[in-house]
Amino acid sequence: GTVVSSQANFMRVVVNSASQSEDWGNLGMELLCVVKDVLKKIKRRVLVGDRVLVGAIDWVDKGGRIENVFERKSEILDPPVANVDHLLVLFSIEQPTVEPFTLTRFLVEAESTGIPLTLALNKVELADEGALKEWKSRLHQWGYEPVFCSVDTKRGLDTLQFILREQTSVIVGPSGVGKSSLINALRGNRSVIGGVEDENLFEHTLGSKWFEEQRVGEVSTRSGRGKHTTRNVSLLPLSGGGYLADTPGFNQPSLMKVTKQSLAQYFPEIRKMLEQDWPGKCSFSDCLHIGEPGCLVKGDWERFSYYLQLLDEIKIREEFQ
Ligand code: GDP
Ligand code: ZN
Repeated sequence: GTVVSSQANFMRVVVNSASQSEDWGNLGMELLCVVKDVLKKIKRRVLVGDRVLVGAIDWVDKGGRIENVFERKSEILDPPVANVDHLLVLFSIEQPTVEPFTLTRFLVEAESTGIPLTLALNKVELADEGALKEWKSRLHQWGYEPVFCSVDTKRGLDTLQFILREQTSVIVGPSGVGKSSLINALRGNRSVIGGVEDENLFEHTLGSKWFEEQRVGEVSTRSGRGKHTTRNVSLLPLSGGGYLADTPGFNQPSLMKVTKQSLAQYFPEIRKMLEQDWPGKCSFSDCLHIGEPGCLVKGDWERFSYYLQLLDEIKIREEFQ
């Protein structure tokens, strides 16, 4: 199954497959599971999003025990989710307006995870079509195809729903752009898991007592009375069979995993310049593309100054490490 949430020592696991044919009727069921002691001893932390092997199942009381964790395809730490296969980078066109350098930081952080990303711009009803067209061609130059959306008018939400299908996704972006609003808009749908439509699954998933605890958490976070300091993340089932983390991810990109050597590969413009120019390599294998002889990367593109700025920031960090 897939771990969809964790609460204290319990994990909620949705059953995705079963080894015994008589259990196939239970696909899509949610089990409350403990983690086998031996996994805790070897410090194998089970994360939301992990694919796990569940044993000792009691189908009547919907309980079980996590016996093993399958290898992770990916892992992000903010929020802590395993097997994320898609990042949705969300900004708003107005209120707050897109700040190109901040957007670049988010894109670089997202690219550095190696997880495919989609860039979406929200609140598009606040801008005129001319401004949207300009943004579109500007972002094309950067190497991205933006999705325009508005939680208020519902524009683009069907496109996002389609993009998010069959995947586990996390929304990232600065505060105020509409991440929580978008998560709420997308979770409004009834869920279909394992091909079985279950009108009540949503209520099961957010079973009453557990749901109340979550809501208390939300309220105290909003009022800033830091009662819950740990970030609880759970995966919400989407109608296309995918999952969406209910907690927005990195809203302050740290770029901690980006090195001065790796930075260039997180700019589509640089990747493209290298691909186009045979043999696709600068003369020096450790070229930082800042005017070295035999460098294939020119400086005539919009975000080159951002590249230099981030490079300086990373150099300083690396010197102090
Ligand atoms: P977050 O900090 O990214 O989670 O942003 P929120 O979801 O809390 O939204 C911030 C503010 O933007 C709220 O007042 C929302 O009602 C508003 N908002 C969200 N989506 C839209 C939209 O499409 N259009 C407009 N005009 N406002 C929106
Ligand atoms: Zn170079």
